[in-house]
Amino acid sequence: MEVTRIGVLGRGLLPVTEPVLRGDDLGVLRGDGLFETMHLRDGRPWLREAHLARLRAGAAAVELTLPEDAALVELLETVAAGWPAEVEGALRLVCTRGPEGGGPPTVYATLTAVPAAVRQARHDGVRVATLSLGVPADARPELDWLPAGIKSTSYGASTAARRWAARAGVDDVLWVSSDGYVLEGPTANVVWSTGDTLCTVPAGRTGILPGTTVAWLLANADQVGCQAAERMVTPTELRDADAVWLTSSVRGLVEVHALDGEPLPRSPRNHALRELLGFPLP
Ligand code: PLP
Repeated sequence: MEVTRIGVLGRGLLPVTEPVLRGDDLGVLRGDGLFETMHLRDGRPWLREAHLARLRAGAAAVELTLPEDAALVELLETVAAGWPAEVEGALRLVCTRGPEGGGPPTVYATLTAVPAAVRQARHDGVRVATLSLGVPADARPELDWLPAGIKSTSYGASTAARRWAARAGVDDVLWVSSDGYVLEGPTANVVWSTGDTLCTVPAGRTGILPGTTVAWLLANADQVGCQAAERMVTPTELRDADAVWLTSSVRGLVEVHALDGEPLPRSPRNHALRELLGFPLP
């Protein structure tokens, strides 16, 4: 994604070539920071309050002092001001711990048009492979020293998984715990349907990221005649589901049409669910 705009807290909108971080910022040195990516639609960030709430929960968990919500909102508004309403945007808010020797967090926002390939996946669906995460499903929440379910800028495992997917010739992966449960993708939650029930993996029990998109989808499932449930699921059960999707803020909802090389059924609900979430086709 090519960044089109950058705004920094306290500095306003900057040319995209202008330096934003110091070389000793702990966000760079240690991946010590948090971020949120929002879908900018009609010029406004969708589910902004849910994203800010998750950011604040993450900040409490990693003991990062955030500016007031009003300052964060003002920064987002500065960056989004005048963005063409018809162009879908990916609006990212980043808060790092700041310079190594101490100092305030570095807070900035970037805005980019949603790439054509991301929009196309809403139409085409994606091929996904399962990939072991090497830990039991309940391992992370049981470690009380380790913040779980936070959107940290430490994305080493995610980018490694993405590279693995490219080598394996698939579009994305789903991590599986060592005891055989599907968890999440490197940048997405998983949703599946069985009959009239839309399901996802419980975040609290597994330490996965509690997705804003999937939370909204399941909270509004009744609008398309569905119930919602949180369940543990194995890859075999997922292959037997009526349909499987990945959800995340910018891609929205994309159907998984092949899992580990086996074709999955396409869902008659796909269109209605994508429309419900308000993501357009390319
Ligand atoms: N899980 C992980 C690991 C993610 O990185 C993301 C988003 O990037 C998601 C799930 C989906 O979360 P959301 O719907 O809030 O974008």
